[in-house]
Amino acid sequence: MGVPPTRPADRAFARPRRRPIAAVAATVALLAVGAGVLVGLSTPAPRPADAPEGEFSAGRAFRNVEVIAAEPHVAGSAANDRVREHLVGTLRGLGLQTEVQDAVAPEAGQLSGAAGGATLARVRNVVARLPGTDPTGKVFLVSHYDSVQTGPGGNDDAAGTSAILEVARALSTGPRPRNDIVFVLTDAEEACLCGAAGFAADHPLARDGGVVLNLEARGSTGPVIMFETSRNNAKLVEIFGRAAPHPVGTSFAVEIYRALPNDTDFTAFLDRRFVGLNSAYIDGGAIYHTPLDVPARMDRGSLQMHGDNALGLAREFGRTDLGDLRAGHDDTYFPVLGGLVRYPGWLTLPLAVAALLAVGALGWLLRRRGRATAGTLAAGFGLTLAPVVVAPLGAWLLWTAITTIRPGYAELLDPYRPVWYRLAVVALSAAVLFCWYALLRRRVGPAALAFGGLAWLAVFGVLLAVAVPGGAYLTTLPALAGALAGFAALATRRDGPWPVVAVTLAAAVAVVILLPPVVLLFPALGMGMGAVAALVAVLLGLAVLPVVDLLHPRAGGQRGLLALRARRLGALPAAAAALAAVVLAGVGLAVDRFDAAHPVPTHLMYALDAGTGKAAWLTREEKPQPWTDGYVDGTVSIADDFPGLGTTELRGGPATAAPLPAPKLDLLSDSRSGDQRVLRVRVVPQRQVRLLTLHVDTSTATVRSATVAGRNVPVEPGDGKWGFGVVFHAPPPEGVEVTLTLVPRGGAVSVRAMDASDGLSGVPGFRPRPEGVGVVGSHSSEMLAVARTYPL
Ligand SMILES: [Zn+2]
Repeated sequence: MGVPPTRPADRAFARPRRRPIAAVAATVALLAVGAGVLVGLSTPAPRPADAPEGEFSAGRAFRNVEVIAAEPHVAGSAANDRVREHLVGTLRGLGLQTEVQDAVAPEAGQLSGAAGGATLARVRNVVARLPGTDPTGKVFLVSHYDSVQTGPGGNDDAAGTSAILEVARALSTGPRPRNDIVFVLTDAEEACLCGAAGFAADHPLARDGGVVLNLEARGSTGPVIMFETSRNNAKLVEIFGRAAPHPVGTSFAVEIYRALPNDTDFTAFLDRRFVGLNSAYIDGGAIYHTPLDVPARMDRGSLQMHGDNALGLAREFGRTDLGDLRAGHDDTYFPVLGGLVRYPGWLTLPLAVAALLAVGALGWLLRRRGRATAGTLAAGFGLTLAPVVVAPLGAWLLWTAITTIRPGYAELLDPYRPVWYRLAVVALSAAVLFCWYALLRRRVGPAALAFGGLAWLAVFGVLLAVAVPGGAYLTTLPALAGALAGFAALATRRDGPWPVVAVTLAAAVAVVILLPPVVLLFPALGMGMGAVAALVAVLLGLAVLPVVDLLHPRAGGQRGLLALRARRLGALPAAAAALAAVVLAGVGLAVDRFDAAHPVPTHLMYALDAGTGKAAWLTREEKPQPWTDGYVDGTVSIADDFPGLGTTELRGGPATAAPLPAPKLDLLSDSRSGDQRVLRVRVVPQRQVRLLTLHVDTSTATVRSATVAGRNVPVEPGDGKWGFGVVFHAPPPEGVEVTLTLVPRGGAVSVRAMDASDGLSGVPGFRPRPEGVGVVGSHSSEMLAVARTYPL
């Protein structure tokens, strides 16, 4: 690689004496912008219970949180009945037309034959209506009132449900909206999104569609993020930016969310005649779905933010003509200092190409002006790949080291106190970038390295514009700003103040655009995928390289001792950042210890075959914790014995049989015509259970069609012995009727029935968890399953 010419005038952006001043000024300006970004992402102060009645008050809403999340209230449980009665009473007390939709509903989206079989539930949705004065359509405020079986759902989703109750109160005290507002508090979201699916498919109020605002929580704190929209969202996003008091949302989140295995009630509405927005707060994910998701752990600032946005949006959609909310395109949008910037999605690719051309032109200019050669520009571009690859790799290695020291993190979505680890990843990214810069700055030159950073940002912009358009703004806009700043710097006097002003402005654009994703990606993906946040942090670092350069002693010209001193000073930022990364990771390990309030999560299930008397302890932990290890001794396959628990391999160990009955199978009718048999059976639970499953051994018969509680279910053959299955959540005590039309293979048809309840405390051999050992957040922790095969 070539050495850039070092004419005296080319030594630095500013005169040597002014350089430290410029460095301090630029750094202070960027820190101020960064602080502004963090303020824009912070939650508002919760309003007290005596706030004016037209406002949303987290204080008032929280009273409902405490009632709703007093105890776990899984769909079908007596505790959930009590919650529903409270909701109905509260909404009727506001003078709203309120009813309970009692139905059997399939899961949202396509009924699938996967994971145990086609899934349904008995649901009881609470639906209330505030009639509009001159409706053009309906606005639906949706949250789910059921909780998981392992915890009371203090945040998930007592936050959304209590926010909707408080919004309903505020709306019913003020002037009537023009459009109908429908409050939909769904059941069985945790089991299968069945409540929302049942409402969207079958409820008369859903027939003509409308606007859906879904409120969720996947943690206990942090800003409320509008993370999902229906397609062609431009008009919705415009209203969101205008009417939500705290419009934190980005088109990038939509793309991230689609890549994650999560679903909410919103999915059920996306399939149909609805448009809408989906919002949640997601930080503090360690308590998600666990017994620790209690009201006391809720950040009431997050609740206030949820309610402020929901009320603002309900009022705005309440007065908007809902006839034409579908735009022809999606918008790109992102938060900027408390507001929302947006532009049409069709601009994404032209902008990305423009950024690439601008950066290319900058390279050409740099060469013409003698700031770089073709060789150094090529070197700058090629060598910039190093930090882009090494920083995420380093973040991954760091987390691997931390989880080796503390294996309990494996089952956590995020540590209880993740901030130290997040800062460690940011410091590590900075260390990688600084080290790379110190090594190459003299050889390649600051201009060529800055060009390399901008070139990669521009290239990523084009790639994203093609593959993940909602995320292209992240790199396109900083690349464009950086190129424009480069032109400005080259067009003005080199020893004047303008080059520094220009590169600082471009760096500020990068901070405004790339700092929010660094902050929000950590809670969104968890520390296990901290590498993604590290990648974005490095991209941010590349965009601010010209300002970083000001922190270094001026380039070129020095000889001997001076040069040595300059090189040592150049290594200082890298060393400081590396030290910070180590110290922060150490502080994280010291501070975030497991204790009674922050227990190590463990997963345990008990499964009994009531026919053979064989029982087993089972866990989904890949490397069982010491407590779990007392129950299991190796890998087991349960697909043949407990098809209702799925087909994944688990760790298991022998258990004492509990005197528990399997669900009974009553044969209601059995008719034959030709080679077909039609079996009508009723599966009746013999104890209080959360779900029932029924599977057919497809080596004894081929299932042609099936109905469950009168609904047709798909019969695509699944894997393994039990090739056909259905899962029914929240079954009524009298059981569920199933009709099977099948072709027997000769002998009796083998059918396996299973049910499951929650809680292991009465099971023989179960030892309560000691202090510091907790329950993992999942849909199967503490499950007690009993199965039996019936020949028919
Ligand atoms: Zn949930």
